[in-house]
Amino acid sequence: MPVTIGIHPSVARIVPPERLESELADAASDATVRVLDGRGDGRGGRDATVDPASVGNSLDVVASFGFEEWFLDAGLDWIHVVRAGHDEFPVDALRERGIALTNSSGIHGAPVGETVLGYMLQFAHGLHRYRDDQLDREWNPRPWGESFTLEGERVCVVGLGTLGRGIARRADAVGMSVVGVRRTPAPVDHVAERYSPENLREAVSDARFVVLAVPLNPATEGLFGAAELAAMREDAYLVNVARGPVADQSAVVDALESDAIAGAALDVTDPEPLPAESPLWGMENVVVTPHASAADEAFPERVADIVGENVRRLRDGESLANQVV
Ligand code: NDP
Repeated sequence: MPVTIGIHPSVARIVPPERLESELADAASDATVRVLDGRGDGRGGRDATVDPASVGNSLDVVASFGFEEWFLDAGLDWIHVVRAGHDEFPVDALRERGIALTNSSGIHGAPVGETVLGYMLQFAHGLHRYRDDQLDREWNPRPWGESFTLEGERVCVVGLGTLGRGIARRADAVGMSVVGVRRTPAPVDHVAERYSPENLREAVSDARFVVLAVPLNPATEGLFGAAELAAMREDAYLVNVARGPVADQSAVVDALESDAIAGAALDVTDPEPLPAESPLWGMENVVVTPHASAADEAFPERVADIVGENVRRLRDGESLANQVV
């Protein structure tokens, strides 16, 4: 039975739909692939919705960034989320209807790991401040001794899955001391010491950098709040590449305004986009990136490989890779 895959226009938040279509044409060559028509969106498909009547029951699979109610009643076998987090998808309703849900976990270790290394390097060497000065045409050397090397500094990576391991490997490579937090006691390469979530404050207390890399779920929402920020060193930096609500954002603002921590790099915020009035925009010791750390040029190919492999498995009656539901 040939499989028909619809590409929802919301994938444009990460990848041009036509690019994913062409990668899927290679990776799932015996499937029919079509980009669904979007409506009501002036932002190039990023927030587009699809008229269910234009789809009917013609699809077996939808590849999407966001969720729409009609996914539940369109006779789909399977939905593929084009990102690792699937926190916006109603897993219970999908399970009830027998619709499989797969995500794109496992492909973000390198781009997010390198981006986190970049945040840490720029804080260590003050590069973000020199860039600000450059735009003002100012030659403004910082006081001697303000910069430091990452070598020998400690990073605590909270969440040691694909993202956390990608970060740990790169931090270890530049000579940092790497500790981490996960639920499972098994050791992880490049991580010298593992803490359990119950010991999160102890884990972060000695670190120069704390990196959040856990999924958003009821157990991790607000995981990093005022008490955890208070447990950090005053010269430490917070990096969030997980999801905005994993950290209590107003507590982060308070900690930055009171110099309780040295700075923050936030690839994710609560809400997104970060509202124009947020004080975070104006802080010179804060780097905000628009949920961009994973979107490198190889991303569409990696997503298509997962979907292509699962088309094969679906056809051969095997269980799907990256299956969440
Ligand atoms: P994985 O499922 O591979 O890893 C999740 C890790 O988090 C595991 O190590 C898990 O522990 C750990 N964990 C779960 N709950 C807790 C907890 N309460 N305390 C401490 N550790 C916990 O996910 P990924 O690494 O692929 O992605 C993680 C999240 O990052 C995604 O869900 C997504 O929200 C976000 N993300 C953001 C991106 C971006 O562009 N900024 C890109 C990709 C992902 P254990 O090992 O014991 O199971």
